[in-house]
Amino acid sequence: MNYEERFRQAVEQVKGEGRYRVFADLERRCGRFPEALSYGGGEDPRDVVIWCSNDYLGMGQHADVVAAMTATAERMGAGAGGTRNISGTTHQHVLLERELADLHGTEAALLFTSGYVANEACLSTMAKLLPGCIIFSDAWNHASMIEGIKHSGTEKRIFRHNDLAHLEELLAAAPQDAPKLVAFESVYSMDGDVAPIGAICDLAERYGAMTYLDEVHAVGLYGPRGAGIAERDGVMDRLTVIEGTLAKAFGVMGGYIAGSAALVDAVRSYAPGFIFTTALAPALVAAALASVRHLKASQTERDRHQERAARLKHLLAEAGLPVMPSETHIVPVLVGDPVACKQASDLLMAEHGIYIQPINYPTVPKGTERLRITPSPLHDDAKMDALVAALTQVWERLHLRQAA
Ligand SMILES: *Cc1c(COP(=O)(O)O)cnc(C)c1O
Repeated sequence: MNYEERFRQAVEQVKGEGRYRVFADLERRCGRFPEALSYGGGEDPRDVVIWCSNDYLGMGQHADVVAAMTATAERMGAGAGGTRNISGTTHQHVLLERELADLHGTEAALLFTSGYVANEACLSTMAKLLPGCIIFSDAWNHASMIEGIKHSGTEKRIFRHNDLAHLEELLAAAPQDAPKLVAFESVYSMDGDVAPIGAICDLAERYGAMTYLDEVHAVGLYGPRGAGIAERDGVMDRLTVIEGTLAKAFGVMGGYIAGSAALVDAVRSYAPGFIFTTALAPALVAAALASVRHLKASQTERDRHQERAARLKHLLAEAGLPVMPSETHIVPVLVGDPVACKQASDLLMAEHGIYIQPINYPTVPKGTERLRITPSPLHDDAKMDALVAALTQVWERLHLRQAA
């Protein structure tokens, strides 16, 4: 068999479907967020404004966060030096896990190298420890949750996105004595809509199910201490597991779960994705700790973030651009075609120095291809006006559909 040819064919197939991914080659500049340098096509780098970062608040460049990282690297060196079990647990890890448990009001928390790994490891391990467990999974759940559910080898039932009646129907149809787990997200990152967490907890309680909530796009951003939508809604104590990332609003890297001491200890003891990998570097952990502590005490960034998102939605709608309804900080603009979506993104970059990655299938359903814009507290009025003007030009040039 010609192996190389097979790999080339596989890539050709992706290209033929208009969903071949090209990375923007960026150099972020500390203190200048959201401005960066872009090394496109081997020429000299040029200035761009990033409008699609998941560093939602710019915390990745916050002075306290960067200072914690550099000071810790100077003091403790670059790497952790081992797995958590074999010499890799530093005091920074212990402090951050305590901080996260406090943030979510749980007995314990556990760090992973990413949010992806946290979801994969925790979901698969929880279900494996409960023979016969049935996982009820929202249709729009993130790939990392889907992988965790697959690797658990247990049965799963997929409920229509945020559809309480469908979830109840599936729960009621399952054997009463089977262990059950409802897995869902708070903020869905591509549409910016929010789960009815309290109502899902009501159903879970009625049918004796545990709950697993991915708050990756909400931690740092919602709730009086930045613990997420469950905190905002006053239902944080009703969830079995809250999962989060340190890489998005907290601006650094790493993932975690928060839950009861027994559950966290079981995952710590059984999950291969936790056990057999090197611990996060202490400098990363210290930076994340600084970020979590800052956002726990400071509401300024959250308020400004919401104000910026509301203003951008308003400006886009005023300009007749098809901004999709979103209850959160995520501002999707519908294109509805993969090739046009990529063209729009290329034009924004080439002619306007604006970087917005096209979002195509399979990240979103076919026909709903979009530009997903994430305004931060650091995107000022001038940048916003320039964005709306650029989008208007690109929309006219490519004859893209206007708002309905
Ligand atoms: C990004 C993301 C993750 C993974 O988090 P990382 O820390 O980036 O690995 C998990 N869940 C959702 C919903 C995400 O969008």
